[in-house]
Amino acid sequence: MTIFLERQTMAFPQQLLDGYRAFLIGRLRHEQDRYRGLAETGQSPQIMVIGCCDSRVSPEVIFDARPGELFVVRNLGNLVPPYTPDGAQRAVSAALEFAVQALKVKHIVVLGHAQCGGIRAFVEEATPLSPGDFIGHWMALIAPAAAAVGPRGDRPLVQYLTQLEQASVIKMLDNLMTFPWVRTLVERGALALHAAYFSVATGQLSVRDPATGTFTQAAADDYTRIFAQPRF
Ligand SMILES: [Zn+2]
Repeated sequence: MTIFLERQTMAFPQQLLDGYRAFLIGRLRHEQDRYRGLAETGQSPQIMVIGCCDSRVSPEVIFDARPGELFVVRNLGNLVPPYTPDGAQRAVSAALEFAVQALKVKHIVVLGHAQCGGIRAFVEEATPLSPGDFIGHWMALIAPAAAAVGPRGDRPLVQYLTQLEQASVIKMLDNLMTFPWVRTLVERGALALHAAYFSVATGQLSVRDPATGTFTQAAADDYTRIFAQPRF
């Protein structure tokens, strides 16, 4: 394997080198003390975000987060498999365990988004991209959410996908509650679980209101003020 990698001809991406240079003269210059402090004291983020791998929905960008503020795990479809202590190598469970038990985060936000390719692959029963069909097996985790939403019927595809994307986020909160130490802390009021949804096209963020169970646009007044079209 190593020999093969030594023979590869494509260099480290220039885009990343350029981005790193911009980071050096921008963010690092402004936040060097913060980085040093975080290196000495360790991280202590209060919030964990479970988001999608999708390149358009970076939680640090959407929430304008600085280093050390968000503990992020990203995977296809922003999913959380239910608690399964079977000894298998479980990436989300390991990140969750670290965030809750070691970092003692106060909030876990599951961040769904519009036009999610993972959700769409599930709905369209996409042909496996490789013999392992990793996407198909992974996205099967949203089957309970799909059952809750019901058959598509006459619903336009975009509307159905949106409903499923949002139902899936809520279902992931249920899955989080299957972890005994998450449930205990939530019941004690020491940990809160939240569902949020980002619309890629508009940049609107919706947060689920626990009282009503519906998604409500966050910072709606600011959004309207900043993006309202001039009337004349
Ligand atoms: Zn996605």
